Amino acid sequence: MQPFTYARAVDPADAYTGVPQRTALLAGGTELLNWMRLGIEHPAHLLDISHLSGLKTIDTLDNSAGLRIGALATLNEIAEHPRIVNDYPVLAQACLKAASAQLRNLASIGGNLLQRTRCPYFRSLDALPCNKRTPGSGCAARHGINDKHAIFGWTDDCVAVQPSDPAVALAALDAEVVIASARGIRRVAADNFHTLPADELQRHNVLADDELITAIELHAAAPRSAYLKVRERESYEFALVSAAAAVELDGETIRTARIALGSVALRPWRLKEAERRLQGVSISALDIVRAAIEHEFQSARALPHNASKIVIAQNAALRALQLAAKQANGGMA
Ligand code: SF4
Repeated sequence: MQPFTYARAVDPADAYTGVPQRTALLAGGTELLNWMRLGIEHPAHLLDISHLSGLKTIDTLDNSAGLRIGALATLNEIAEHPRIVNDYPVLAQACLKAASAQLRNLASIGGNLLQRTRCPYFRSLDALPCNKRTPGSGCAARHGINDKHAIFGWTDDCVAVQPSDPAVALAALDAEVVIASARGIRRVAADNFHTLPADELQRHNVLADDELITAIELHAAAPRSAYLKVRERESYEFALVSAAAAVELDGETIRTARIALGSVALRPWRLKEAERRLQGVSISALDIVRAAIEHEFQSARALPHNASKIVIAQNAALRALQLAAKQANGGMA
């Protein structure tokens, strides 16, 4: 690890005003310290924002039934917040399943969104071909071990997936990421926050170097929502596939459905065509619901070692939708 200076911010604006080059922001530190240990990042300066109380609160949005979650709220604070448990259970469940209790007590929601792919070639201490680590070096995963890699949105240059659990829930909730800079405030839809390989290979998300995530905004409540995480062991593991679903029902008839998949692409993957096909369908009409979901997978492309992820993802989407419909707070009619 290379030497670095350390300073504490006194105001959120310190994170985007007059910041020296090669400065990294330190919040929970659970991901940044991995990057430094593995040589993925070599910051010359650490600016500690972890104590900025104005970025930690969870408040009702002005003039709205929604919620504003400060970017430094921890995963456990979100998972245990009564409004989130009742009105956005998919997010509470995703935060609970994101990491061990110790990590959830430290990790912030903003930092969780900024985590980078778990592709083992990207995180290797050896200098392996990886276009994201070393531009132009190739992609060792494309024809290497790729059982946990993408089935949507990949290119020959990168087949990695984004591992965040909360990001998948936020995508299904149509949440917005609030971003501040010296130029002002902008909001980005949660399912557009992360970038695909075809967008710009060296980027991981749309956050510019001089910008700071200050909050996540949740809008309409989604009491019938649920998160399902499929992994190779039941705890302390990243998702093989995950699914977040939010549904509104008239009796058993689906009025609206929102479904996002995780760990299938470099960003959460909304099943927009399936959502459209599910409108007006009975949640109990299993063959029709399954067909609507499977139709979306016409654009899925398996890699040599991950064809099973297509079937797993279809089943996860279906199961998450059924769990959302049965969510106790929403109450299936
Ligand atoms: Fe690197 Fe992406 Fe290929 Fe993994 S999949 S080795 S992150 S270029």
